[in-house]
Amino acid sequence: MSIDRVILFIGPPGSGKGTLSQECVQKLGWTQVSTGDLCRKHIAKQTEIGKSIDFAIKSGKLVSDGLISQMVFDWFKKGQQQSDVVILDGYPRTVNQARDFNALADQLGDAAQVVVAKFVIDDDVVVDRLVNRYICKNKSCQRVYSLKPTSSFVPANDMMCDACGSELIKRKDDTADAIKERLKVYHLHENDLLSHYEDAGYEIREFKSDLPIDQLFTEFKERLGVSL
Ligand SMILES: [Zn+2]
Repeated sequence: MSIDRVILFIGPPGSGKGTLSQECVQKLGWTQVSTGDLCRKHIAKQTEIGKSIDFAIKSGKLVSDGLISQMVFDWFKKGQQQSDVVILDGYPRTVNQARDFNALADQLGDAAQVVVAKFVIDDDVVVDRLVNRYICKNKSCQRVYSLKPTSSFVPANDMMCDACGSELIKRKDDTADAIKERLKVYHLHENDLLSHYEDAGYEIREFKSDLPIDQLFTEFKERLGVSL
């Protein structure tokens, strides 16, 4: 399938990029690529990319920009998109990755439009969200829940996925300390990344992502001119 639009979701972990992506997948039929999910899949399948990522993580290093880009390119090369709109959730995260992506975007053809969406949220809200976050264990589902009683994502049945009935699990890196570290790394690159796109003439569409998901989804569709 040819690609009309690639939407880059730029925002800190826990800013609701994943949840908004899920809405777009379920209600608009778009395709979402999350680099976090791709990393986990490659590691689980022990692919060459997965082994390299695993090695970097186990040696306490950051996974290199080149490796992350290679993984995203591999995904596009295999043609796994099932729609003409693709959301890149969490990529590019650095200017180097953005430069890699420019090369990829050229290969996607002239028709493919790249849209930059930025999600803004307070770090405190992120930490609070992520320490309460649980994920469906089923690899083909991976729906996200919150055990915070005021959240609209509390599972109907205790620790069980509403969609597929699988057990809900917590990611190892969803602890307060690990989240603060991820936020630090994110903020380190955020301004440079956004300047890169501004300098290249892109309009940055900014969304306040502490809105309830239905409001965020409505605003998102309006601002992107999606008429469904
Ligand atoms: Zn599930």
